Order: sequence, then structure tokens, then C-alpha cells
Amino acid sequence: MTDPNARDLLLRGGLVGGRRQDVAIRAGRIERIAPDLPPAGREVLDVGDRLVLPGFVETHIHPDKAFIADRTEGLRAGGPSPLALVAELKKSFTEDDVYRRARRVLELAVRHGCTTMRAHVEIDAFVELRGLAALARLQREFAGVLDLRLIAFAQEGVFNDGVTQGLLREALRGGVEALGGCPYMDRDQRAHIDWCFDTAQAFGVPLDFHADTAEDPAMLTSDYIAAQTVARGFQGRVTLGHLCTLDALEPEPRARVIAALAEARISVISLPATELHVKGRGDRRLTWRGIAPLAALRAAGVTVAVSTNNIVNPFTPYGHPDPLRQALVAAMAAHLGNLDQMAWLLELVTTSAARAIGLADYGLAEGCRADLVVLDARDPAQAITEQAEKLWVLKGGRVVAQNTRTSELRGP
Ligand SMILES: [Zn+2]
Repeated sequence: MTDPNARDLLLRGGLVGGRRQDVAIRAGRIERIAPDLPPAGREVLDVGDRLVLPGFVETHIHPDKAFIADRTEGLRAGGPSPLALVAELKKSFTEDDVYRRARRVLELAVRHGCTTMRAHVEIDAFVELRGLAALARLQREFAGVLDLRLIAFAQEGVFNDGVTQGLLREALRGGVEALGGCPYMDRDQRAHIDWCFDTAQAFGVPLDFHADTAEDPAMLTSDYIAAQTVARGFQGRVTLGHLCTLDALEPEPRARVIAALAEARISVISLPATELHVKGRGDRRLTWRGIAPLAALRAAGVTVAVSTNNIVNPFTPYGHPDPLRQALVAAMAAHLGNLDQMAWLLELVTTSAARAIGLADYGLAEGCRADLVVLDARDPAQAITEQAEKLWVLKGGRVVAQNTRTSELRGP
């Protein structure tokens, strides 16, 4: 999908860091950011007074089980749990089926300004390596448009059958770059966590856990994961998705866990759309929201991100891979509405998200890759509030998506 004849670009008059500046791109990277730069042979793209950001980063998403909400009669009030529904559907996934649905997710994400995506790929007795084969194909096909990174993900646990451990190792041997654990799917959560650390150590890959989705404080694992991270020298190489249980702890133990996460340099990815759909179903009053305490984590120095997670499946039937939407959902659900918070919320899908998954050369600075999104807004607060159009999406300095929104007001 890359165009070898694409010319270098000069983005003219965009709002960069709150000021009107030009962004000069050469050979896929940002060469200079300053006012009134000469085109110097570059094609000029006029983005006058529009907000320029580094491209959005989806840090936690499941393209392999997207767009299946209409496949099950079970997705009705009082039906089986999303976990049971998806496990059953997964048995009939073919490589081509996963490929088609995941491709739609990737195309939508690019249209919505996403330039890097780290996706969980389920590997277990039900789907074996068929999902991985489909996502690996897409990873090759989208090179130059979207950096797709893959996590070998143990959604069904590692001790419930005789094949999952071997399949996960096979995926890592084949070059999948991270291991994804899911402690709450095994009866002994600590044994699951230990197995993941042992395996990640053996293959030299980072870890990403689906952790602490329960509202019962006794189910907490993030304290144990933080201790293991330090004990095994994994600081800065562990990310945790969900962390809902933090929201159910008393303030003092919560502060202790947050300090331990900061100490272990663990990054936290909150998944607000899914939590709001799934959590609090049994509450008679004071419905539990289940959103990780983003402001407190961030204030303690923890790298925090928000991501889309599920797309049109039983876990989030209205999920859509649009990081700008997740920023708004997080603002509503986690009480992040004051002016300071509105100013940093977009970091949760850009710079902070990039840090969470260890992206190099990312950002709005000279020398960084020219992965950019230009929004029809003047500042982050307006972009979030109006869910601004993503006018241009650039990957490596090349326009990979262009969107327009037209509306006509007829009188008065
Ligand atoms: Zn997930």
C-alpha cells in the first residue's frame, strides 16, 4: 500500500503545541517544525489553524473477535456471559473469516487517525493459530500504512487444556513480539502470572496482562504482578489492561497499589467503553463503572493510556476503533472534565499511549517519524468535545486517509 513516488510534504500553518507552525517532512520523518518554512521542493498541504497531533495509538484492541455481535442469539438480556458466547463462536473462526473482520477494523482505525496499533490475538484450543495467521497477513499488507504489533494472548487461560502453552510458545518462536496473560481465566491466578513471566523471560518479550476485572478486592493481582516485575527485572516491560478492581479498593490500599505500579514502571491501559458496558450488571444501586482511576494513576507518575478493546462483539456491541471517541468516553466515565484534564486527555491516545507500548521516534518533534493526524479543531478540548473530523492522517509522511465532513445549515 506504500507509494514509492509520494513526494515529501510541508504541512503549512497547523497548530503545533498551541502555536501556528509549519511541519517539514523529509523521507518519512519530521525534519523541522517552525513558522514560515520554505517548501524547498516539497508538496504543500495547507492545514491552516488546524490541530496537528502525532498519530493515534491503539494500545489494546481485539480485531480477531470484532464484528461478531450479530452471530449469536445469546446476546440478549439474561443470556450467557460474553466470555462463554465468544468462546463458542471462536471454534468456527476460519483464517479468512478473521482476516475479513480484522481488515475492516484496521481500515476504520486508519480513517480515524490511528498510525500504530497493538492487537491481542487469541491463541488457544478453540481457535489455535488461525487468528494469528490472519493478523500476520494483515501486518504485512498494512506495512507503511499502520504499524500493527501483535500480542500472543491467552484469553482462555494456560492451565485449562493441554495445547495452549505449546501454541503460545510456537507463536513467540515465530516472532510475535509480546505475550498476553489473562490470570482470571485460571483458578490459580498467581500460577498463571508466574508461567507468563517464565515464558516471557525465556523468549525475551514484554508482557501485557488483562488484569483485575473483578469488583472483589480479594481477586486483586496487580500488586503481585508489580512485585514480580521488580523481582524479575521487568521494569518498564509490563502493561496492564483493565485494572477495574482498583476502583473497588479503599483509598489507602489503592494508594499502596498505585505506588507499587509506579515503582515497577508498569503502564496502565484503561478500556472505558467495555467497562461501562460490562460492569455493574448485578448492582441494584450505585452502579459500578469499573474504570481504572486514571487521574490518580497519572498523578503518581504511572504511564496511562485508554484504548478501544472490543469492536461489535458481546463484550462491547457498539465498540468502534476511534481513539478520539475513547477519550470522550473516558472523560465522561472517569470524571475527567476540568480544563487541565481536558488538555492532557489526548495524551492517553498519543504520547502516553506510545510510551506505554515502548514506541521509539514517536511524537511531534524533529527526527520523529511523520505519523500525524490533523484534526478540524483548534485545541484538544475542542477536538474531544466536538469529536472533530480527522481531516488528514499521515503515516511516514504520506497521506493514508483524508476525511471531510459537510453540513449545510439552511436558515435562519
Ligand atoms: Zn482486551
